[in-house]
Amino acid sequence: MTLKKSVSVFGVTGSIGTSTVDILKTHADKYSVDAVTAHSNVDALAAIAKDVGAKCAVIGDPAYFNQLRDALAGTDIEVGAGESALIEAAERPSDIVIAAIVGAAGLKPTLAAIRRGARVGLANKETLVCAGALMTAEVVKHNATLIPVDSEHSAIFQVLEDRPEDRVDRILLTASGGPFREWSLADMKSVTRVQALAHPNWEMGAKISIDSATMMNKGLELIEAWHLFPVSEERIEIVVHPQSVVHSMVEYSDGSVLAQLGSPDMRTPIAYALSWPDRIRVDVKRLDFATIGSLNFQRPDTKRFPALRLAREALQEGGTLPTVLNGANEVAVDAFLKDKIGFLEIAGIVEEVMGKVGSEKLTNLDQVFETDARVRRETAAMIAAV
Ligand code: NAD
Ligand code: MG
Repeated sequence: MTLKKSVSVFGVTGSIGTSTVDILKTHADKYSVDAVTAHSNVDALAAIAKDVGAKCAVIGDPAYFNQLRDALAGTDIEVGAGESALIEAAERPSDIVIAAIVGAAGLKPTLAAIRRGARVGLANKETLVCAGALMTAEVVKHNATLIPVDSEHSAIFQVLEDRPEDRVDRILLTASGGPFREWSLADMKSVTRVQALAHPNWEMGAKISIDSATMMNKGLELIEAWHLFPVSEERIEIVVHPQSVVHSMVEYSDGSVLAQLGSPDMRTPIAYALSWPDRIRVDVKRLDFATIGSLNFQRPDTKRFPALRLAREALQEGGTLPTVLNGANEVAVDAFLKDKIGFLEIAGIVEEVMGKVGSEKLTNLDQVFETDARVRRETAAMIAAV
């Protein structure tokens, strides 16, 4: 009998979180659940905690502590609330932490897991965007293992394994192009929240769905890829691939291009982060190539999708500029979701904030938190003035 691995899931009520729970339940002989967390959805958190037999449940918003305690009364599940409880949950000695909180809010718990040398399955790309260099240094220092859950980065990770990294010529990051791939700028002006939330291939949380529609998601993923893989910025190319079947590709010095393919279902990369270096069975729809027929590829259009240009500029400039890009984007996306700004204003506001705040050399984590807080204030003020 092999020993079960214990897994904590941060952001367990979200899209990645619930897909993770699905895999953990299917493979209950291999995995036990330690801590589970959510931001404010107490009922869903309590139900999942009971369902999977978690040892600990933490709600991020402290206002919900009593409700969580009452919902889990009579069970052995430890309860906690607030940011410090999230960090303590990450410090518990589970084997694997799935980091699936959305946004920079996931940074502190993810770092706590890294600092105890855990294996971290990272979905929360915003943490790498706003503090990548500091995070990867902590991974090395504490001998932690970072495994990407983002489907493109999982694809690249799977291709690169056991192959010489110094023979990589290009990384080809594929992008679906989102729901407005073929729309004109004039038409995109009046895009509604409902239209922007309806992604053609993937079912995801609200923030990443909007990021996919503006293509900021691919911009964030460009920065994420640069931190995860040893390739210079100009060697990471974005290729639009509407079918989302080829999850990304790596080109080697001899001209060979290796790709990872699969149905657009996040359970495959999540499962790999859990089972690596082994593989486990996942009940995803299998690819039927004859039915798919053809796979298409196009160059991205940075005129209609300026977020791609902004993210590349932030990566080239470095320092705190990616932190600024990320913070401004989080606030602007939230404002769009609340109908306070139009769709095209999201990237417009990010660009203005980047110009206003500028970049500083990044030396420590406090600077990340200070920059993020300042950017949120500046962006909110800019939106209020619109
Ligand atoms: P989601 O909105 O569906 O879920 C987010 C989770 O984080 C929820 O459990 C929520 O309670 C929690 N949360 C939100 N704000 C929080 C806060 N301030 N403090 C603590 N917890 C908080 O999001 P999602 O689509 O599951 O995405 C999660 C992360 O994974 C994001 O970084 C996203 O970019 C990344 N990702 C998602 C997908 C996908 O298919 N959904 C694919 C690749 C990467
Ligand atoms: Mg992705």
